Amino acid sequence: MKKTACFLLAVLLCAVVCLCGQFEKASAEETVEWTYPVSVSSLQSKYAVLVNEENLLDKSYRPAPLVRVRNVKQATNTELELEETTANALLDMFAAAQAVTEYTYTAEDKDGTPVTKTASFPNGMTLYLKSAYRSYGTQSTIYANYLDRNNGVDDGYVAKPGSSEHQSGYCADILNKKWAGLDRMNQDFETEVEAYWMKENCARFGFILRYPKDKEDVTRIAFEPWHFRYVGVEIATYIMDNNLSLEEFTVESQAALEDFVARGGDIRKQMDKEFRLLNAPPESTILDEYGEDGDAEVSLSF
Ligand SMILES: [Zn+2]
Repeated sequence: MKKTACFLLAVLLCAVVCLCGQFEKASAEETVEWTYPVSVSSLQSKYAVLVNEENLLDKSYRPAPLVRVRNVKQATNTELELEETTANALLDMFAAAQAVTEYTYTAEDKDGTPVTKTASFPNGMTLYLKSAYRSYGTQSTIYANYLDRNNGVDDGYVAKPGSSEHQSGYCADILNKKWAGLDRMNQDFETEVEAYWMKENCARFGFILRYPKDKEDVTRIAFEPWHFRYVGVEIATYIMDNNLSLEEFTVESQAALEDFVARGGDIRKQMDKEFRLLNAPPESTILDEYGEDGDAEVSLSF
């Protein structure tokens, strides 16, 4: 009898200790705040992936779902495909450009002085899709052909197989009518009105200018004013507002994640929290569950 009592007491003590432990753990997690300006959910999304010479895509990687991009002007006769969300974002950006009839932007004159210019587009600004998803095999051919043309010199204009973002299905080369009619693209495209507009507006649709002019030492890819990469609106806005390359953003955001975990933060729980906040009813909706006459009135105020 005495033994049984001791045993029960021990079990009870264990349960209390366990519960206290759980409680302490839960409180600790609640106090770990995510303070980085981009959500954990965006950082964990597949669209945040970094593809470059140090972070190659596997030979067998193919984006899914991959869709044919329809109803846009093309600068090639080839059928173009993109990952589905990227394709939809691209269509939105092309449609927004088409709705532009006048655009005021700041360019630089020959000695680098900023000049404000206004361009008119009576029929809207038309963008042309030049290149989208490329398989590993296609990129291998493009790379080999480029080396042939360029006396075997790799000057950074064409990505090595596996290191091209075009294999991800999340990026596109976009031109205007004038450049769509030319055989080659070059950096002079940056002075076109459409290039200014895309740089200023791409983030609204989730795109970034992936290889900026002042980041060649970081991206190790020559400036490409036509190459836009989909990363989602939240990341794109942060990157473009802060003039970062995807490489710099990745280093910075990974450090924030590591710090969060080191302080006891839980990535899964933080993502759940962000999901709940995102799906919470708007604050302007006041639910009056039991009205004066006892029915479940719902009063809405805006
Ligand atoms: Zn490109």
